[in-house]
Amino acid sequence: MEKEEAKKRIEELREVIRDNSRRYYVDNAPVISDYEYDHLMYELEDLEKAFPEFLVPDSPTQRVGSDLETQGAGENAEPGIRREFAQYPHRFPMLSLGNTYSIAEIEAFAQRADKTLGTSFTYCCELKFDGTAICLEYRDGRLFRALTRGDGVVGDDVTENVRRISNIPQQLHGDYPPEFEIRGEILMPYEAFDRLNRERILQEEAPFANPRNAASGSLKLLDPEEVAHRGLWCTLYHIPSESLSFETHDQALRAAESWGLPVSDKRRICHGIEEIEAYISEWDTARKALPFATDGIVIKINEMAFQRTLGFTAKSPRWAVAYKFKAEQALTRVLSIDYQVGRTGAVTPVANLEPVLLSGTMVKRATLNNADQMALLDIRIGDSVYVEKGGEIIPKITAVELSKRPQDSQPPVFPAVCPDCGTALVREGDEAKWFCPNTDGCPMQIKGRLLHFMSRRAMNILAGDATVEQLYNLGMVRTPADLYDLTKGRLLMLEGWKDRSAERFLESLRASRSVPFERVLFALGIRYVGESTAKEIARHFGDIDAVASASKEELLAVQDVGEVIAQSVADFFAEGKHLNEVRRLKEAGLRFSMEEAQAAGSDALAGKTVVVSGNFSLSRDDMKALIERHGGRNSGSVSGKTSFLLAGSKPGPEKIRKCEELGIPVIGEEEFFAMIPSAELPSIPEAVSDDEPTLF
Ligand code: NAD
Repeated sequence: MEKEEAKKRIEELREVIRDNSRRYYVDNAPVISDYEYDHLMYELEDLEKAFPEFLVPDSPTQRVGSDLETQGAGENAEPGIRREFAQYPHRFPMLSLGNTYSIAEIEAFAQRADKTLGTSFTYCCELKFDGTAICLEYRDGRLFRALTRGDGVVGDDVTENVRRISNIPQQLHGDYPPEFEIRGEILMPYEAFDRLNRERILQEEAPFANPRNAASGSLKLLDPEEVAHRGLWCTLYHIPSESLSFETHDQALRAAESWGLPVSDKRRICHGIEEIEAYISEWDTARKALPFATDGIVIKINEMAFQRTLGFTAKSPRWAVAYKFKAEQALTRVLSIDYQVGRTGAVTPVANLEPVLLSGTMVKRATLNNADQMALLDIRIGDSVYVEKGGEIIPKITAVELSKRPQDSQPPVFPAVCPDCGTALVREGDEAKWFCPNTDGCPMQIKGRLLHFMSRRAMNILAGDATVEQLYNLGMVRTPADLYDLTKGRLLMLEGWKDRSAERFLESLRASRSVPFERVLFALGIRYVGESTAKEIARHFGDIDAVASASKEELLAVQDVGEVIAQSVADFFAEGKHLNEVRRLKEAGLRFSMEEAQAAGSDALAGKTVVVSGNFSLSRDDMKALIERHGGRNSGSVSGKTSFLLAGSKPGPEKIRKCEELGIPVIGEEEFFAMIPSAELPSIPEAVSDDEPTLF
């Protein structure tokens, strides 16, 4: 390649890499695969090696990708993400890892280590956890500070959020050193990821592309209580060697484990390349059964003295390397494309696929998000496409195999009218989506709003798609307020309803009358008002009348509320039909003020710190809200400060063990209800599984 051409390509690559790096680390919304990103980086590295005169210190090859918000969160960032965190320097730089997809390069790494060290040594092979890096600092056994990797030199202070991650101890036990740092990964297990994405789809928010992005986005949320809901999890894998003196990396991890820190037991000491390769091939299969995502294997020189000999480059340690697994893909065919209308009227194209087995489950559908995305993929009915999966819920079409395109295929035409009610679709300003403007008449929108109102995080009313379909088709329910007019007698006249199912349904309607105001506000389904925004608005104004009469300027004074949300709330309450609906819901007995919610509480649990674990007759979130209403404090982990563990069925064995160790009482649900005033005894049955979104 000519010098000029190389220079141009280098500049091009840097720009593309920087853009994708921001989308990945800051917005948590990547648009290309890791494999594609890594190959752009390899190409840049090769060119900089061939033309060293163009190497500059701020090239992406010389720096770790930065998650710091100061480089400007993009338009894709999740609302509710804090724009500014306090930032602190890392005591030891937090670097990345050299990575490769080739076994030959792992062999070359081992040969280099043999040659440089010239003596016998061991490797510690570990899983490469696919989350976001975290650095925890403990002082006198207490969690003092948690920093993200940031730009490797300075990290964002996310301590308050990390305190809500249940397996991170606030207090260590055993023979821990007075001060030290430990690093690891914050992960979102598949189960929590799928639950989060299901909820996001239901609320018509963009689902996260994969658990890594979800973990990283969640760690930077504004509201620590919301972080607690996200089900994050931590695994730790590195004590910077300068921080303490251990002979081997493995010993350091064993010590960390003995202090109560979560360390993976999947690591293995290997004595040479054969054992490393055996570990890689074993985990390439076994990892598919793990409850969280891994994207490779990390191979580290185990002896600390040798780690120090090998040292670091500007970007990564020379004593470790990552072997990355290519994301599992399947090739299948697009049979048809559906256009689904959600509760806000947004139309989402969904590809129906020839069923194909991918990571253990059958994939039949994949979302195409919007018309632009379809055009970008250049997808057509009949095309063969590659599908990948971030979790169980969201299969993603990554590319079209053009060599297999049928000759007579045509680009699909995005519908001009609503597939449900036939109204002409509209697209406003820079919206990515087309909308059906027939808000009051479009059946899919009406049913979507009802499902949102009834969903677990909103009013937690026990009914799924089929019930809503039935009640809608019979003309019995059009808006949420109609639900409260239903009687047992009317329900029993409908097909499929029995005494017990009607009772359960009506009981959940009754229980929804004690759902706190902030969730009622969320349930109203005001566009852009998600759970945490609803909470902020409810706390700020105190009751619905104040919210409804607030001007846009007054709304803008609420933390987390910007122009778009303020306008949306003002528009919502400017409509008579919405005010009428609120009036009917008030008459039905729903809570529309914070005072009412608080009045229902007591100080029966004042001064008590409670840890909740296991399943109960009401959701864990409701249980926690109940504790707070009665003056108690919730905590994610058992420590010396815990007053008692409230254990339902299947409580966490680690929590029980810790309670036994610290002599903390473990009490059951009945005993707990006896501690609070009896009027509060709730009887919310467990959520049923059919409150799931219609998309997948
Ligand atoms: P990385 O994810 O490849 O590897 C380094 C990280 O691995 C460490 O920082 C640590 O957080 C993690 N890790 C997990 N398990 C570990 C263990 N057992 N021991 C040590 N570390 C462990 O590197 P990175 O710098 O965090 O991210 C770069 C990668 O991110 C790229 O290679 C690419 O795959 C991906 N990326 C993708 C895009 C995109 O647009 N798709 C953009 C930017 C980055």
